[in-house]
Amino acid sequence: MTMTEHFRSLIQNSWDIILVLDADGTIRYVGPSIERILGYKPEDLINQNVFKLAEFYYPHKHTVFREIVNEALSSSNTSIVTECWLRHCDGSRRYFEVIGQNLLDQPSISGIVLNLHDITERKRVEKELSMALHTALEASRVKSQFLTMVSHEIRTPLTAIIGIAEVLKETPLTLEQQKYVNVLETAGNTLLILVNDILDFSKVESGTLSLDQVHFDIRELVEKAIAAAAVRAGEKGLTLTVEIMPDVPSGIMGDPGRLTQILLNILENAIKFTERGEVVLRIKNNPDAKDDEGLLFSISDTGIGISEEKLNTIFDSFTQVDSSIRRKYGGTGLGLAISSRLVNLMGGRMWVESTQGIGSTFYFTIKFGSPSMDDPYIIQGGKR
Ligand code: ADP
Repeated sequence: MTMTEHFRSLIQNSWDIILVLDADGTIRYVGPSIERILGYKPEDLINQNVFKLAEFYYPHKHTVFREIVNEALSSSNTSIVTECWLRHCDGSRRYFEVIGQNLLDQPSISGIVLNLHDITERKRVEKELSMALHTALEASRVKSQFLTMVSHEIRTPLTAIIGIAEVLKETPLTLEQQKYVNVLETAGNTLLILVNDILDFSKVESGTLSLDQVHFDIRELVEKAIAAAAVRAGEKGLTLTVEIMPDVPSGIMGDPGRLTQILLNILENAIKFTERGEVVLRIKNNPDAKDDEGLLFSISDTGIGISEEKLNTIFDSFTQVDSSIRRKYGGTGLGLAISSRLVNLMGGRMWVESTQGIGSTFYFTIKFGSPSMDDPYIIQGGKR
């Protein structure tokens, strides 16, 4: 087989349509695959002007070919890529990717070569996928809107219940009544935490949670955040220590409210799951961060620890190590799922190392910004 025969055979068996046009649009060559792909016979098209083949176009427009030819004539060495609909001779329409090249000054071809690749199926799948994605996003948006609305609706009467329970506690009550009011208040507060957690989680999952970007002092924030936790630690006889390395910048840009939420979640867990010993919060510059804006937080405890198999699912939603934990310690199993997702949103990651019976260390990194002269300093650290 000669080289010419070899290439002819390649073109004849091509899955694409190959057209060679003159500068005025006259078809000089059309590959036989056009019959298989669009149903036209090559001999009916030869020497016809491509701009005048009305039956070829859907919807009766030849402007795409005109544009390709014009562009090919103005730039001889580049490939022109576009997409267009063409009409099959049975009346159906097919979608093509068209690559045009000006090879007028190549003596063996001396024309504008168009390569038409049928991408109808790919387009159909792309459209279906995009519609499915749109439907899924819409469903997720509606779900999150619904959850947000329901949570708000639940919160309003719940706040009233908790408020009234507090007022009731201040009135003269029998011992039995005091017990009932305490149960009412505790249950109300637990429900409020759950509703807030569900609200946060649905916002993070649906991507509708927005983060603040404000200038705040990390040392001041930590001092405030640990005040409440320190009381609880003291009640249990635990030592709560904070170590912030001197090179951690005080003024940083980020979301102080959400950082407080993450710190409290992990500190409260550490205190909850530790019976004796200590809880230590350490903050230092993240040694693995490329710039100096990343901070590494670690919270170590000497508590019950987490078994190796449970370590893998600890950041999933609604995970508690087992149901006895829920009965003994309470909680929703959403705290770590929310915190780890918040950390991800802040450009960092969260992980844990733990040995059962010895203790756990939760780590997280966050990428903060550096404040500029114009960023006002926010004195109030937390907002929740
Ligand atoms: P919860 O609101 O139930 O505490 P979290 O998502 O914060 O939910 O924690 C999920 C589970 O992970 C807890 O129920 C507990 O079993 C385990 N856990 C979290 N922190 C610790 C810790 N410091 N020590 C031991 N177990 C922990």
